[in-house]
Order: sequence, then C-alpha cells, then structure tokens
Amino acid sequence: MSSSEAVFLDRDGVINEFVLEAVRDPDQFLYYDFTSEAMARLGRLNLPVIVVTNQSAIGRGWTTHEVVNRIHENLIQNCKEWGLEISSVRYCPHHPTDGCDCRKPGIGMFKDAAVEHGIDLSESVMVGDSIVDMQAAATLGLKRLRVKTGRGLSPLPAGLEIDGHVDNLLEAVEWIESWIQNKKNQ
Ligand SMILES: [Mg+2]
Ligand SMILES: [Zn+2]
Repeated sequence: MSSSEAVFLDRDGVINEFVLEAVRDPDQFLYYDFTSEAMARLGRLNLPVIVVTNQSAIGRGWTTHEVVNRIHENLIQNCKEWGLEISSVRYCPHHPTDGCDCRKPGIGMFKDAAVEHGIDLSESVMVGDSIVDMQAAATLGLKRLRVKTGRGLSPLPAGLEIDGHVDNLLEAVEWIESWIQNKKNQ
C-alpha cells in the first residue's frame, strides 16, 4: 500500500448534522449516531485523514475563527478518543464573493494538505454531501463518495460523475475499506 493515499472528509452533513445557516456555536455541533464507529474504523486504516470545510459563516460575520477553532479542537480530541488521529482540519473562512481559491469547489485546501502531508491526490478519496465537494474532488481526480445525509440528496449537475452514493459516513468508510483491500490485492 502506498503511504501517500489519504481520506478527505467534509464536515457539516458528513461528520456532524447539517444546520441550516451554519453551525455558529459548539452547542450546534452534533455528531450523527454512526460517527464514532465510522471514525474508529477509519483510524484502523492508518491513512492520513484531512477535514476540508467551507466556513463562510466567518466571512458573513455569523461566527469567528476562535469559535471554529474550538469546534475543531473538540473534533480532533473526540476522534482521538475514538481511535483516529486526524492529520489536519482545514477550513475556508471566506465569504462566497471573496474570490478565494480555498472555498470548495476551489481546490486550495486539498493542494495545501497534499503538500503538507505528502499526499498523492490521484490515489485519495473525498467523502462529502454537497455538490461542491464532488466538484473539487473531480477537478483533482480524487475518488468521490457522496453521502445521503446533509445536502446529499440534491441532483448532481450533468456530467459530474461520482464513485458512489452511500447512505452515510459509516457506509463510506466500508466502501473505503474495500477500496484499500482491492488496491492491496492488485
Ligand atoms: Mg457538507
Ligand atoms: Zn477561502
């Protein structure tokens, strides 16, 4: 197995419950009932796991870097308790009209993570609920797993292909387990 493959996870609607108009406070950051098992199993794969999340709630003035960082410190700590060391949590704080290259479907967060952690993006997989997650992953040639939680049921634009549309993060991890096993057997 190559050491340079990685798993990218979106946050809201994948790891924690999607909240209309954004998670603005740690109290609104609620895990799904399958999140702990999914993270524990992901931890057993010994791959870099990177969270990439659009947090325009900061750019819109609805929340702050400090609050978002506190949420991510909790996330990292909870995952550690479940048996997963998250390599990094990256977020785009910008407003959609700022024209940054980190806001998904932009690819800035993925490219930065690839440099920092020595990741081969073409051997990696993205799990997300939103169309922009799938678009960013497609631009970079990552495998694309869409979950049906969060915003995961909206119709995909014509021509945007994905590798699987699974019920939730736990089913995504099962898919990743098989994918890794198949690569080993090749
Ligand atoms: Mg999402
Ligand atoms: Zn940005």
